[in-house]
Order: sequence, then C-alpha cells, then structure tokens
Amino acid sequence: MSLIVNCPTCGATVEWAEKNAARPFCSERCKLIDLGAWASESYRVATDEDVSAAETSSASISTRSSD
Ligand SMILES: [Zn+2]
Repeated sequence: MSLIVNCPTCGATVEWAEKNAARPFCSERCKLIDLGAWASESYRVATDEDVSAAETSSASISTRSSD
C-alpha cells in the first residue's frame, strides 16, 4: 500500500515512499524550484510593504513639520 500525493510544484502524482527523497515533490528539481519561489516571493512582498510603509510615514512627517 502506497500513498500518492501531488507534487506542489508541477502537480505530478508522486508516490510517498522512502526511495523518493524529494517527497512530496516529484524530483529534487521541483523541490528546489518550490523553495526558490517561496524565498523570492516573500522577499518581494516584504520589500513592497517596507517601501510603502516608509513612504507613508515620511510623507506624514514632512507634512507635519512644514505645517
Ligand atoms: Zn514536480
């Protein structure tokens, strides 16, 4: 009896077995792609939030000081 899962990266069916070291991914490549996508995505989101937060606070500070 074996458990079948879907590869999170490409959606291929993967047998959850000891021989498959990359599980739940179908291959080491898909595993690395998924980790890379997560890293770059969270980095981009964090940067966007950081920039807009800095712009907002500096804008309100300059408005107050010139007032
Ligand atoms: Zn895959």
